Amino acid sequence: MPMPRLDHALILGGGLAGTLAAFAVAGHADRVTVVDRDRFTEGSAHRKGAPHARHTHVLVSGGARAIDALAPGTTASLLAAGAQLIDIPGRYLTMAPQGGWFPRFPGTQFILGCSRALLETTLRARLREHEHVRLLENTDVVGLTGDHSAITGARLRTRSTGELSAVAADLVIDATGRGSGILDWLAELGVPAVPESVVDPGIFYATRIYRAPAAAGSTFPGVNVQTSPARDPGVRRGGTLIPIEDGLWTITVAGATGDHPGLDDEGFHAFAASLPDPVLAELIAAAEPVGPAFGFRAHANRRRHFERLRPAPGGLLVLGDAHATFNPIYGHGMSVAALAALAIRDGLPGPGTAAVQRAIARTSDSAWRMATGQDLRYPQTVGPRPGPAARLAYRVQDWINAKGMHSRTVAMTQIDIFGLAAPVTHALRPRFLLSALFSPRRPGLPAPPFTDQERRVLD
Ligand SMILES: Cc1cc2nc3c(=O)[nH]c(=O)nc-3n(C[C@H](O)[C@H](O)[C@H](O)COP(=O)(O)OP(=O)(O)OC[C@H]3O[C@@H](n4cnc5c(N)ncnc54)[C@H](O)[C@@H]3O)c2cc1C
Repeated sequence: MPMPRLDHALILGGGLAGTLAAFAVAGHADRVTVVDRDRFTEGSAHRKGAPHARHTHVLVSGGARAIDALAPGTTASLLAAGAQLIDIPGRYLTMAPQGGWFPRFPGTQFILGCSRALLETTLRARLREHEHVRLLENTDVVGLTGDHSAITGARLRTRSTGELSAVAADLVIDATGRGSGILDWLAELGVPAVPESVVDPGIFYATRIYRAPAAAGSTFPGVNVQTSPARDPGVRRGGTLIPIEDGLWTITVAGATGDHPGLDDEGFHAFAASLPDPVLAELIAAAEPVGPAFGFRAHANRRRHFERLRPAPGGLLVLGDAHATFNPIYGHGMSVAALAALAIRDGLPGPGTAAVQRAIARTSDSAWRMATGQDLRYPQTVGPRPGPAARLAYRVQDWINAKGMHSRTVAMTQIDIFGLAAPVTHALRPRFLLSALFSPRRPGLPAPPFTDQERRVLD
């Protein structure tokens, strides 16, 4: 039997996942309330509840399209506000893990380059257009109401007064991020422990914003350099430059446990210079820093399997980082949240929340396999060690990566998968495997394939 129309949907957390969840339920509920502990001051760049927002946040095309399906016209609004459409691989220069640079050609997938603050404020401004959606700011979620079989609302505390209240809802959606108290809140109601999967690569992030040199113009490409687990498994370093709004570049460098980038001028630059290609250090030298570098001990890949709870409490859904977090270097967390919100919108008229939670879990499969599959290749990663089958898969992956340098069919499928526009299983399709088999295996380009005009930035 389909679920009846909702009277009140209560969304815990008004970050990216919570905002997208509000769009998802707006058409199914008479009233929607989004609760957050922060105050959302429009135009303000950063807020306490989202310290990670200072770091490079790319939105891959699969996520951007999901957001457009939930809030039509968002990509166009972001581009109008200065976000950069970075076509892959036409405007995104990537050094392959085994060495050599991928060639450039016009692609069908892209990255949206903009600050996380621009993305959030654009979406929130659009959400405010829905009169039946209310933002309840400056309010902590401290628990849930109901019992082990059904969630009926949440317990809240107003931050300024300490006043406690209980708010009833016929659907509660947890989107309070990676620090969510959901496991404790459920345990308090007698719900059994939620199974978890954890793979921790111990990544430390450092990000600094730069003003791009004038010679970079308005179409300068993104640049991505990573070390290779096949070539040098003991070292895990990488860096990315993404052009964003207002003529800025966001540059992130990252290392694994015990090998952290410095946050001062010298340490940040030296780390970038140590990557397998020094291009990021050269670009840093050509640009002007805007503010200091910020560090962040990135969270582990973690999936909470709410879909495996038997019986699952009705009336509850969990998405975003509260459900699954990924090593941020793959740039997938926000897009998975968007795909999950879409699964909520499309699944809600269905038979119940358990089926929707299963659909949410499926939206994280590809990103999970990509992130953990790659992270477990590094010995410093904490998680189940790869067995013989996984090691064979790594060799096939390296072989395919090398083929992607010279076969557009192979490269396009890899990019579709990276862009969350196709599931990882597309890499098993006969057409893909045959293209890989019959394309040459040669090294990639010896240097980043800048145009002459782009190269002037380095001169
Ligand atoms: C360093 C870093 C870089 C990243 N880069 C990328 C990237 O390039 N691309 C990408 O797609 N993803 C990236 N991610 C992942 C991305 O940030 C997350 O996937 C995304 O923010 C998930 O959004 P969320 O709304 O679930 O959580 P959050 O953004 O953490 O939002 C949670 C919200 O809940 C509120 N809240 C928390 N607890 C309570 C409570 N008890 N009561 C009331 N309110 C509460 C907070 O104030 C906050 O607003 C990165 C993450 C990190 C850490």
